[in-house]
Amino acid sequence: ETVITDVIIIGAGAAGLSAGKTLSERGVVNFVILEATEKIGGRVRNANFGGVKVELGANWIEGVNGEKENPVYTLANEVNLKYSYAFYDNYSQNIYDHTGYLAPEVVAPAVERADESFDYVEALGTNFTNENLDDISVLTAQRFFGRVPSSPVEMAIDSWKYDFSSAEPPRVTSLRNSEPLPTDSILGPDSYFVSDQRGYATVLHPLAYYLRCDEGVCNDPRLKLSTVVTKITYSTEGVTVHTEDDITYNGKAAILTVSIGVLQSDLINFSPDLPFWKLSAIYQFNMAVYTKIFLKFPKRFWPIGPGTEYILYADEKRGYYPFWQHLEQEFPGENIIFTTVTDDESRRIEQMPDNETLAEVMLVLRKMFGPDIPNATDILYPRWWQDKYFRGTFSNWPIGVSSYEYKQLQAPVGRLYFSGEHCSEQYNGYVHGAIFAGNETAHEVLKCLYENDCNTFIPSRLK
Ligand code: FAD
Repeated sequence: ETVITDVIIIGAGAAGLSAGKTLSERGVVNFVILEATEKIGGRVRNANFGGVKVELGANWIEGVNGEKENPVYTLANEVNLKYSYAFYDNYSQNIYDHTGYLAPEVVAPAVERADESFDYVEALGTNFTNENLDDISVLTAQRFFGRVPSSPVEMAIDSWKYDFSSAEPPRVTSLRNSEPLPTDSILGPDSYFVSDQRGYATVLHPLAYYLRCDEGVCNDPRLKLSTVVTKITYSTEGVTVHTEDDITYNGKAAILTVSIGVLQSDLINFSPDLPFWKLSAIYQFNMAVYTKIFLKFPKRFWPIGPGTEYILYADEKRGYYPFWQHLEQEFPGENIIFTTVTDDESRRIEQMPDNETLAEVMLVLRKMFGPDIPNATDILYPRWWQDKYFRGTFSNWPIGVSSYEYKQLQAPVGRLYFSGEHCSEQYNGYVHGAIFAGNETAHEVLKCLYENDCNTFIPSRLK
């Protein structure tokens, strides 16, 4: 079977849905959206756990109350999404180590020094951008500050500041492109934690209005769910997309929104092979891994009340179950708490069975809260890194990728256009980044189709 259409969108995550919206608004109705999984939303996805619905992917609306409005915030208010203010700054009241709770006066010197270091690193990042200096890592910037975090408490605070948002340590992350982070400096310093029982993905429904969805179930035949793209043939004339169920789609252009992790894998075969400059840009960018581990208890043993939500555990091993958050405000009486790990720890626990992870987690909790706490009755965590349709959770900008390489990451090959959160130069890694990127790529495609301006020329340093 062969289907002929104008634009083929691959992926029904935030970027693909946003691209479809822009095309619809510009009068292009002849398009299809091919999505490998059985629902829309991509990395915005929830699951039943312990009597409530929890978010396995995106959970916060990051970057609000700034000079420019975050589109996710606008959409959230449009659908009356339930969210609460994220009191990130209270962490210093809630630090634990293997001896249990650490009083604020005990951790105060480390907190003060960390704050000085954060300010220094951000100022240095601004300087590097203004002076157009070659990039360095965030860790290198910390060495300029004169102190690299080394005690368990210092490392816990450091990973709270950096790994908790970028899912990779300062050693890896680009100073120029993350300090200051445009999500904070442009969209705003505040964040909201989403606990709506319809799911965070509800924010994407107004974006996907043209698919005529009702509570996430869409009736428009242009959306093809459970449809896995296996091969893409591209030229300056058009794009042919082949799917696992043996259907061929012929389009004047295609927008590929799969994650950078999927692009780095061999899930999709390209013909001709992607050029070296393109592959080089794809391989240089990082797909990070970030894992929330949800736990249900028969009774609560952690403090509750304003300011207690974000908890740190300081271990000798950096990144060992460092972040904790209770959900008492969101789900009162449900006794649900979750811990977050990132990077190598995420990859490690993805390979472990749930019961082994649970045993580790219980040992940590008993160090924090004492030996008498009850065992968890349930555990749930997603394995995004092992999932062949994602291969991780979100992109992180590594040292070594300049805005030049970044342009190559975004650039089309023939009529095949690239989009997704990793293609948002300012907001990569976020839901809003995916929405912005989808919109921008759709505009590029419209320029190509209607103005014959197909923007395929990349001034290449690499042939
Ligand atoms: P995706 O959502 O990945 O969409 C791409 C789609 O392509 C997917 O649906 C996939 O199934 C599909 N696909 C893949 N391969 C194929 C194929 N071969 N054929 C057809 N379809 C295919 N952002 C925030 O703003 N705040 C947060 O708090 C936050 N936390 C996060 C926590 C986690 C655990 C994760 C996973 C992400 C988090 N993010 C957060 C990031 C945010 O979720 C993503 O940046 C955004 O949702 C990505 O959207 P996208 O459309 O670019 O990609």
